[in-house]
Amino acid sequence: MICDICGKEGARLRHVTRSYGKDENLLVIENVPVINCPKCGESYLTAETLHEIERIKLHRTGRSCARPIWTASAGSCRNKIAVPVAECS
Ligand SMILES: [Zn+2]
Repeated sequence: MICDICGKEGARLRHVTRSYGKDENLLVIENVPVINCPKCGESYLTAETLHEIERIKLHRTGRSCARPIWTASAGSCRNKIAVPVAECS
């Protein structure tokens, strides 16, 4: 796929688990799509992904895990749905 930063072909989509906050405010989000470009060395999230993460942060309660369903289409990652937030064990 094309890198949004340098415009060259070769960027790869990876899925990672990210955590935000700590203790009572810990939020773990699985399968966050991250675009990694070997040409310019950048790793970044799309605007849509960032938006979805903000939405998850707003709607979660306390210490939680979110398992959003991220879907990839046409080479860019588009996240559609965040499934219900479940308790972290
Ligand atoms: Zn690049």
